[in-house]
Amino acid sequence: MIAIVYCRVSTEDQARHGYSLIDQLDVCKRKAQSLGATDIIECVDEGISGSILERPGLTRARDLIRQGHIDLFVCYDPDRLARNLSHQLIVTEEIERAGVRLEFINFDWKDTPEGKLFYSLRGAIAEYEKEKIRERSMRGKRRKALEGKVTHMPGVYGYRYKDSSLEIIPEEAAIVRQIYTWCATEDMGPKSIAARLNDFGIPSPKGSIWQKATVKRILHNRTYIGELILQRWDHRGGKANKFRPPEERVKIKFYPKEHWVTVQVPAIISKDLWNAVQERMERARQLKPGRAIENYLLSGLLRCGICGATMHGFRGTIRQKHRIYYVCTARNPGIPGRPKCVQPYVLRDFLERQVWSRVVLWVQNPDELCAALEEQLRKDSESIDQSELVMIESELNSVTKERSRLVDIFQRGLVPISEIEERLEALKTRENRLLERKSQINSRLAVIRQAPTPQDIRDALREVRASLDNLDFEGRKHLVRMLVDQIVVTPGEITIRARVPIKFLE
Ligand SMILES: [Zn+2]
Repeated sequence: MIAIVYCRVSTEDQARHGYSLIDQLDVCKRKAQSLGATDIIECVDEGISGSILERPGLTRARDLIRQGHIDLFVCYDPDRLARNLSHQLIVTEEIERAGVRLEFINFDWKDTPEGKLFYSLRGAIAEYEKEKIRERSMRGKRRKALEGKVTHMPGVYGYRYKDSSLEIIPEEAAIVRQIYTWCATEDMGPKSIAARLNDFGIPSPKGSIWQKATVKRILHNRTYIGELILQRWDHRGGKANKFRPPEERVKIKFYPKEHWVTVQVPAIISKDLWNAVQERMERARQLKPGRAIENYLLSGLLRCGICGATMHGFRGTIRQKHRIYYVCTARNPGIPGRPKCVQPYVLRDFLERQVWSRVVLWVQNPDELCAALEEQLRKDSESIDQSELVMIESELNSVTKERSRLVDIFQRGLVPISEIEERLEALKTRENRLLERKSQINSRLAVIRQAPTPQDIRDALREVRASLDNLDFEGRKHLVRMLVDQIVVTPGEITIRARVPIKFLE
């Protein structure tokens, strides 16, 4: 006579009732033997909730029953079998259909209408209890969130969970700030930021290589301006996904927005930086290949003088006129959470003519360009961002420390020399990259500090002047970017900010 003994403990059962797996197994096996079992197969699920049907132990038991080798099925209590009435009835039906005798320790199973009714009631009550426990813990969590407490470790890079709140991890926060700064001030996208971080040898949140998607998530995460969103995901049913085949997995859904709770946590970046980054990301989304059909001479250079957002090319019909415009991003499509900008649509041809004529003027009269530059350079040198240099210094410092640590390990003879050499080599590469970037920044700073002379500017523009009349669209686009840093558009006024001709920067 072959018997299956099925036992289950969930983590909370063990804590609350002191149900131990060994105890359950022991009683069940003795019962099976007393009923004449000669072979006993143990099927066990540990740490798995009874509301999940797809438990590995139970699945194995059901397979064996289906194959028809089993005579007896022993279980401690109906609620071990399932905490969901329909699951309980499914499994029971399978056992009965296979002609297997069903026995519980804690419950007298009778194959009569009354017995079955009572059995179903037990199942219904088990399900109700389970639901109540879940409901209570969910409500408890929600209440905590509404009180402004962080209910669990949210896994946001830059923070650690401590006493129902988040605490900033300074080293990681510095990286987050750097990511935002690069995006806003150097117009870098997630892909190039990830590449730079990898270049610097900075480990990703998971301790490996930075991916584009990781950087993108960081750039969109409101936690960094101090707004952690809780109660956003509906995880119901998702816990069992790892036991299910892919096609049967429960999809984790968003709750409706009204359900979300925002908890205040320490901010890592400023609101201004956040806004600048969101604008940049929105603009990049708009300029994705396939979206830009027109040739826009000024794309990426325009800024709205009313709200500060970027402006981009737009083909559309306004007052029955089908034309091509530049429009403020905060007006069309608009920026979430911000009022629509009132900047009027600007005709593309008009704006481009204005800017182009200024560029031509500068090429032909370098002194004009020189005067404009001098004024700007004076302002720039006052405001350049030094934070990246600071970060590089601290990285270089850690390289030095690591090196002396390796030398120390070597002297004590703890690790074979080949391994030490390999690590020193890697350290050297990292140091070189950092030094290279440092000198890049310093030379850029030097350029800014030392205003070019009118003669330099004339030299840089000489070649351009000769070919000015023969430039195609790409050539004009290139020239505009060589001399124009930014164009600020307000109704009735266009302010064109010059830049040092690129030749000087290389
Ligand atoms: Zn605007």
